[in-house]
Amino acid sequence: MSLFKLSQFRRQSIQLTQRISNSIRNHGTSSDNAIRIVEVGPRDGLQNEPKYVETDVKIEFINRLSKVGFQNIEVTSFVSPKWIPQFKDSSEVFQRIEKDDSISYPVLVPNIKGFEAAIAGGVKEIAIFAAASETFSQKNINCSIEESINRFRVVAEAAKKANVKIRGYVSTVVGCPYEGPIQPTAVAKVTEDLLKLGCYEISLGDTIGVGSIAAMNKMLIEVKTIAKPQQLAIHCHNTYGQALPNILCALNHDIRVIDSAVSGLGGCPYAKGASGNVPTEDVIYMLNGLGLHTGIDLPELVMIGRFICSYLGRKSESKVTLALGDSKPSVKHDHVHHHDHSHSHSH
Ligand SMILES: [Zn+2]
Repeated sequence: MSLFKLSQFRRQSIQLTQRISNSIRNHGTSSDNAIRIVEVGPRDGLQNEPKYVETDVKIEFINRLSKVGFQNIEVTSFVSPKWIPQFKDSSEVFQRIEKDDSISYPVLVPNIKGFEAAIAGGVKEIAIFAAASETFSQKNINCSIEESINRFRVVAEAAKKANVKIRGYVSTVVGCPYEGPIQPTAVAKVTEDLLKLGCYEISLGDTIGVGSIAAMNKMLIEVKTIAKPQQLAIHCHNTYGQALPNILCALNHDIRVIDSAVSGLGGCPYAKGASGNVPTEDVIYMLNGLGLHTGIDLPELVMIGRFICSYLGRKSESKVTLALGDSKPSVKHDHVHHHDHSHSHSH
């Protein structure tokens, strides 16, 4: 990037901060300041987990997430156990979780077979997916982007008949493990295709977490030529630690729906040493600092993160959780005011 462009970019960044603070000043507590978080920990987070998570643990995990203020929790995937053994209990998990009427519990479906199993279990919202990278589509689901859209057309028609909501994912929106950088026009095309299938919202995924703010910005400018910000969500993985700035960039584009996973669960089979999704705790901390509301109880969420990490035998990827040490979090509907170091000797 030349110096000229860099200064231009800095100017844009300053505008970004000003826009967000203006929006907060002008709208007070209006719905403009409301952010909807889609918790994807139980699905995206556990998908690449090498350890099989027992059904009862999955259920307890989701039940606890249901009690902290989420409006959307993606709970499982109705995929063949041959592909992802972790979800061989998807029907049981979906049926046994305690459902709150105010929460939507979408499940991922890869095809019509998965869809039929999902509605047989009473699923009311599904998620379908397509890639912005041709090679990724071939390697991930063995078909071209166009073929995948056609395959999902059958699912979408069936879903509409059954009154089931459809959410769409576009993966590899800024980078692909095989092709490298992805053309923003390719992302816009798939987004448009999924909207035409009847998706109420498209989640734009930096699947391998390679995006920079500049790439994210360019991609979103292009996608907004065919979609309204209210139709979009952002889904960032944190491989290079860029998820939070990329989410801030999406906020600047008026996107108000963010996908994240508690404790930053998830891995990525395509990038060495990759960490998973952006940690929900850290997203909420950032949003709280901006005066944007999620309605989620952060201290309780931190406790859920500790529960699942301790079961999995892994360290939380959430910096907020690390900052709190072993202390019982005292953060309540606001940002952290002080640190309790009384138990910090243990690490
Ligand atoms: Zn993901």
